[in-house]
Amino acid sequence: MELELLDMYRRLYSAYGPQHWWPADSPFEVCIGAILTQNTNWSNVEKAIKRLRHATALDPESLNQMPSEQLMNLIRPAGFYRQKCWRLKAFIRFILDHGGLAKLATLETGTLRSMLLAIHGIGPETADSMLLYAWTRPVFVVDAYTKRLLARLGFLPHKVSYDQVQCLFHKHLPRDADMFNEFHALIVEHAKQHCRHVPRCHGCPLGARCIQASERGDPPRT
Ligand code: SF4
Repeated sequence: MELELLDMYRRLYSAYGPQHWWPADSPFEVCIGAILTQNTNWSNVEKAIKRLRHATALDPESLNQMPSEQLMNLIRPAGFYRQKCWRLKAFIRFILDHGGLAKLATLETGTLRSMLLAIHGIGPETADSMLLYAWTRPVFVVDAYTKRLLARLGFLPHKVSYDQVQCLFHKHLPRDADMFNEFHALIVEHAKQHCRHVPRCHGCPLGARCIQASERGDPPRT
Protein backbone atom coordinates (compact mmCIF):
# COMPACT_ATOMS: atom_id res chain seq x y z
CA MET A 1 0.00 0.00 0.00
CA GLU A 2 2.86 2.38 0.77
CA LEU A 3 4.19 2.07 -2.77
CA GLU A 4 0.71 2.44 -4.25
CA LEU A 5 0.04 5.65 -2.33
CA LEU A 6 3.47 7.03 -3.23
CA ASP A 7 2.91 6.11 -6.87
CA MET A 8 -0.46 7.87 -6.77
CA TYR A 9 1.15 10.96 -5.26
CA ARG A 10 3.92 11.05 -7.85
CA ARG A 11 1.51 10.62 -10.74
CA LEU A 12 -0.75 13.41 -9.49
CA TYR A 13 2.21 15.71 -8.84
CA SER A 14 3.62 15.02 -12.25
CA ALA A 15 0.23 15.73 -13.88
CA TYR A 16 -0.77 18.86 -11.97
CA GLY A 17 2.41 20.24 -10.36
CA PRO A 18 2.64 22.09 -7.03
CA GLN A 19 -0.70 23.47 -5.83
CA HIS A 20 0.59 26.11 -3.37
CA TRP A 21 -2.06 25.50 -0.70
CA TRP A 22 -3.62 26.91 1.40
CA PRO A 23 -4.54 30.10 -0.46
CA ALA A 24 -4.44 32.50 2.52
CA ASP A 25 -2.29 35.33 3.88
CA SER A 26 -2.03 34.06 7.47
CA PRO A 27 -2.72 31.03 9.70
CA PHE A 28 -5.75 32.87 11.09
CA GLU A 29 -7.14 33.32 7.58
CA VAL A 30 -6.60 29.58 6.95
CA CYS A 31 -8.75 28.78 10.00
CA ILE A 32 -11.50 31.20 8.97
CA GLY A 33 -11.44 29.75 5.44
CA ALA A 34 -11.64 26.20 6.82
CA ILE A 35 -14.92 27.05 8.55
CA LEU A 36 -16.33 29.10 5.68
CA THR A 37 -15.62 26.35 3.13
CA GLN A 38 -17.92 23.88 4.86
CA ASN A 39 -20.63 22.84 2.36
CA THR A 40 -19.65 25.33 -0.32
CA ASN A 41 -17.08 25.84 -3.05
CA TRP A 42 -13.93 27.87 -2.67
CA SER A 43 -14.95 30.72 -4.96
CA ASN A 44 -17.79 31.57 -2.53
CA VAL A 45 -15.33 31.50 0.37
CA GLU A 46 -13.02 33.88 -1.48
CA LYS A 47 -15.86 36.38 -1.83
CA ALA A 48 -16.61 36.21 1.90
CA ILE A 49 -12.92 36.52 2.85
CA LYS A 50 -12.58 39.51 0.53
CA ARG A 51 -15.51 41.21 2.28
CA LEU A 52 -13.98 40.50 5.69
CA ARG A 53 -10.64 41.89 4.54
CA HIS A 54 -12.30 44.98 3.11
CA ALA A 55 -13.97 45.52 6.49
CA THR A 56 -10.51 45.12 8.14
CA ALA A 57 -12.02 42.32 10.22
CA LEU A 58 -9.57 39.47 9.58
CA ASP A 59 -8.25 39.25 13.12
CA PRO A 60 -9.67 37.57 16.23
CA GLU A 61 -10.37 40.75 18.21
CA SER A 62 -12.26 42.47 15.39
CA LEU A 63 -14.37 39.43 14.63
CA ASN A 64 -15.06 38.85 18.31
CA GLN A 65 -16.34 42.38 18.77
CA MET A 66 -18.31 42.49 15.54
CA PRO A 67 -22.10 42.23 15.98
CA SER A 68 -23.38 38.91 14.70
CA GLU A 69 -25.76 40.53 12.20
CA GLN A 70 -22.83 42.37 10.62
CA LEU A 71 -20.72 39.23 10.47
CA MET A 72 -23.57 37.27 8.88
CA ASN A 73 -23.93 39.95 6.26
CA LEU A 74 -20.20 39.93 5.44
CA ILE A 75 -19.96 36.14 5.11
CA ARG A 76 -23.28 35.74 3.28
CA PRO A 77 -21.57 34.73 -0.04
CA ALA A 78 -20.20 31.58 1.65
CA GLY A 79 -23.74 30.27 2.33
CA PHE A 80 -25.18 28.92 5.60
CA TYR A 81 -24.14 32.31 6.93
CA ARG A 82 -26.15 32.11 10.16
CA GLN A 83 -24.67 28.74 11.10
CA LYS A 84 -21.17 29.76 10.02
CA CYS A 85 -21.41 33.00 12.00
CA TRP A 86 -21.99 31.04 15.24
CA ARG A 87 -19.20 28.63 14.33
CA LEU A 88 -16.78 31.49 13.65
CA LYS A 89 -17.77 33.18 16.89
CA ALA A 90 -17.23 29.93 18.85
CA PHE A 91 -13.83 29.39 17.22
CA ILE A 92 -12.69 32.95 17.85
CA ARG A 93 -13.79 32.73 21.49
CA PHE A 94 -11.72 29.56 21.73
CA ILE A 95 -8.63 31.28 20.29
CA LEU A 96 -8.94 34.26 22.60
CA ASP A 97 -9.61 32.11 25.66
CA HIS A 98 -6.40 30.16 24.95
CA GLY A 99 -4.07 33.09 24.38
CA GLY A 100 -4.09 33.26 20.56
CA LEU A 101 -2.94 31.08 17.67
CA ALA A 102 0.74 31.32 18.61
CA LYS A 103 0.04 30.00 22.11
CA LEU A 104 -2.07 27.19 20.70
CA ALA A 105 0.85 26.35 18.40
CA THR A 106 2.83 25.21 21.43
CA LEU A 107 0.38 22.36 22.09
CA GLU A 108 0.99 18.78 21.03
CA THR A 109 -0.98 17.79 17.89
CA GLY A 110 -3.30 15.25 19.55
CA THR A 111 -4.20 17.67 22.33
CA LEU A 112 -4.84 20.53 19.93
CA ARG A 113 -6.97 18.29 17.69
CA SER A 114 -9.13 17.18 20.62
CA MET A 115 -9.63 20.79 21.68
CA LEU A 116 -10.61 21.84 18.15
CA LEU A 117 -13.07 18.96 17.83
CA ALA A 118 -14.74 20.07 21.06
CA ILE A 119 -15.68 23.44 19.49
CA HIS A 120 -19.23 23.70 18.17
CA GLY A 121 -19.31 23.08 14.42
CA ILE A 122 -15.71 21.91 14.02
CA GLY A 123 -15.57 18.36 12.66
CA PRO A 124 -12.55 16.24 11.70
CA GLU A 125 -12.09 17.68 8.20
CA THR A 126 -12.19 21.28 9.45
CA ALA A 127 -9.95 20.55 12.44
CA ASP A 128 -7.42 18.69 10.31
CA SER A 129 -7.42 21.43 7.66
CA MET A 130 -6.47 23.88 10.41
CA LEU A 131 -3.85 21.56 11.87
CA LEU A 132 -2.20 20.91 8.52
CA TYR A 133 -2.49 24.26 6.78
CA ALA A 134 -2.40 26.72 9.70
CA TRP A 135 -0.16 24.86 12.17
CA THR A 136 1.85 22.70 9.69
CA ARG A 137 1.07 19.48 11.55
CA PRO A 138 1.49 16.16 9.68
CA VAL A 139 -2.21 15.30 9.69
CA PHE A 140 -3.87 14.07 6.51
CA VAL A 141 -7.07 15.89 5.53
CA VAL A 142 -9.81 13.59 4.26
CA ASP A 143 -12.71 14.93 2.23
CA ALA A 144 -15.44 13.47 0.02
CA TYR A 145 -13.08 13.64 -2.99
CA THR A 146 -10.50 11.52 -1.19
CA LYS A 147 -13.04 8.85 -0.24
CA ARG A 148 -14.47 8.71 -3.75
CA LEU A 149 -11.07 8.48 -5.39
CA LEU A 150 -9.78 5.74 -3.08
CA ALA A 151 -12.96 3.71 -3.63
CA ARG A 152 -12.70 4.06 -7.41
CA LEU A 153 -9.04 3.07 -7.33
CA GLY A 154 -9.99 -0.01 -5.30
CA PHE A 155 -7.98 0.98 -2.20
CA LEU A 156 -11.03 1.11 0.10
CA PRO A 157 -14.74 0.26 -0.03
CA HIS A 158 -17.19 3.07 -0.78
CA LYS A 159 -18.57 3.38 2.75
CA VAL A 160 -15.68 4.06 5.11
CA SER A 161 -15.27 6.38 8.05
CA TYR A 162 -13.11 9.50 8.12
CA ASP A 163 -10.75 7.81 10.55
CA GLN A 164 -10.34 4.69 8.38
CA VAL A 165 -9.27 6.77 5.39
CA GLN A 166 -6.96 8.97 7.43
CA CYS A 167 -5.41 5.91 9.05
CA LEU A 168 -4.52 4.53 5.60
CA PHE A 169 -2.40 7.60 4.82
CA HIS A 170 -0.90 7.85 8.31
CA LYS A 171 0.01 4.17 8.39
CA HIS A 172 1.57 3.90 4.96
CA LEU A 173 3.22 7.28 4.35
CA PRO A 174 5.92 9.22 6.21
CA ARG A 175 4.33 11.77 8.59
CA ASP A 176 5.43 14.70 6.46
CA ALA A 177 3.32 17.87 6.63
CA ASP A 178 4.68 19.23 3.33
CA MET A 179 3.77 16.05 1.50
CA PHE A 180 0.32 15.84 3.14
CA ASN A 181 -0.26 19.47 2.21
CA GLU A 182 0.52 18.80 -1.44
CA PHE A 183 -1.18 15.39 -1.61
CA HIS A 184 -4.55 16.64 -0.36
CA ALA A 185 -4.43 19.64 -2.69
CA LEU A 186 -3.56 17.37 -5.63
CA ILE A 187 -6.51 15.08 -4.86
CA VAL A 188 -8.83 18.10 -4.92
CA GLU A 189 -7.37 19.22 -8.26
CA HIS A 190 -7.72 15.70 -9.65
CA ALA A 191 -11.35 15.56 -8.49
CA LYS A 192 -12.03 18.77 -10.38
CA GLN A 193 -10.24 17.81 -13.58
CA HIS A 194 -10.83 14.06 -13.95
CA CYS A 195 -12.34 12.14 -11.05
CA ARG A 196 -15.54 14.17 -10.95
CA HIS A 197 -18.98 12.97 -9.89
CA VAL A 198 -19.22 11.54 -13.41
CA PRO A 199 -15.56 10.70 -14.01
CA ARG A 200 -13.66 11.91 -17.06
CA CYS A 201 -11.35 8.92 -17.33
CA HIS A 202 -9.81 9.77 -20.69
CA GLY A 203 -6.28 11.02 -20.03
CA CYS A 204 -6.50 10.36 -16.28
CA PRO A 205 -3.00 10.13 -14.74
CA LEU A 206 -4.23 7.33 -12.44
CA GLY A 207 -6.02 5.35 -15.14
CA ALA A 208 -3.47 2.52 -15.20
CA ARG A 209 -4.12 1.81 -11.51
CA CYS A 210 -7.86 2.33 -11.45
CA ILE A 211 -10.27 -0.53 -10.72
CA GLN A 212 -13.25 1.50 -11.91
CA ALA A 213 -11.56 2.27 -15.25
CA SER A 214 -10.61 -1.38 -15.81
CA GLU A 215 -14.14 -2.54 -14.90
CA ARG A 216 -15.48 -0.12 -17.52
CA GLY A 217 -13.18 -1.72 -20.07
CA ASP A 218 -11.06 1.39 -20.64
CA PRO A 219 -7.72 0.55 -22.32
CA PRO A 220 -4.83 0.27 -19.82
CA ARG A 221 -2.45 3.23 -19.55
CA THR A 222 1.08 3.21 -18.24
S1 SF4 B 1 -9.61 6.43 -14.26
FE1 SF4 B 1 -11.56 7.53 -13.95
S2 SF4 B 1 -12.47 6.72 -12.07
FE2 SF4 B 1 -10.29 6.12 -12.12
S3 SF4 B 1 -9.21 7.73 -10.97
FE3 SF4 B 1 -9.16 8.32 -13.12
S4 SF4 B 1 -10.96 9.64 -13.42
FE4 SF4 B 1 -11.25 8.53 -11.49
